[in-house]
Amino acid sequence: MIRLKSKREIEIMERAAKILRQAFEKLRPSMRPGISTLDLDAVAEKAIKEAGGESAFKGYRGFPRTLCVSINEEVVHGIPSPKRKLKDGDIVSLDLGVKYQGYYADAARSWAVGEISAEAQKLIRVAKEAFLAGFDAVRKSGKRIGDLSQAVQEVIESNGFQVVRDYVGHGIGQTIHEEPQVPNFGKAGQGPKIEPGLVIAIEPMVTAGHYSVETLEDGWTVVTKDRRLASHYEDTIAFTDSGPLNLTGPEEN
Ligand code: MG
Repeated sequence: MIRLKSKREIEIMERAAKILRQAFEKLRPSMRPGISTLDLDAVAEKAIKEAGGESAFKGYRGFPRTLCVSINEEVVHGIPSPKRKLKDGDIVSLDLGVKYQGYYADAARSWAVGEISAEAQKLIRVAKEAFLAGFDAVRKSGKRIGDLSQAVQEVIESNGFQVVRDYVGHGIGQTIHEEPQVPNFGKAGQGPKIEPGLVIAIEPMVTAGHYSVETLEDGWTVVTKDRRLASHYEDTIAFTDSGPLNLTGPEEN
């Protein structure tokens, strides 16, 4: 069942989203060679706590940390570790969820560490472009989830990349993941109707090679099966009577 949110609930989610944006602003300058992924986790956790929020991911189904840090062939759900350090040339996807007064916001960014390959640069750019195309496809009233799914898929595939099938975007509110599912592939005109009060996370996951993924032995880290690079971009979008709002964006990242 899809649970639509009131204006008041969306206002609380905007505050959760603001805390999340501020955490990303603090993470951005930390993306340099030598920093451990656990240090990045600490930056995120401190930023959220100081702003009066809570980590949405820590403890979620047993995930041990606040931030997901997924490097290069890792797609999502990488676990921060003191042993894993960023290197020049890495492409790093950060996924972060914030809970505030019982409501959630969720967003992800892929960023470069130092000088990255042309392919990695294009992967970062295409994930964001795909997100924006999906968002644009549902700005007008009367649209369906499939309209955004098709738009996201078209941008990714027209750039010669593939789109992950095993993980999708989602509704969000008093739970971090709720209905409806928001696939990054599909057909326009299909799926649930978009209406005021719907709040969703749109989150394309883009692969340079084949879209097949697998989970590592840690039980969390999702990697491409062919070990080619991946990128991820996500924002939380609220649909209101006066149009859609990007709660966790936009910003210069
Ligand atoms: Mg999400």
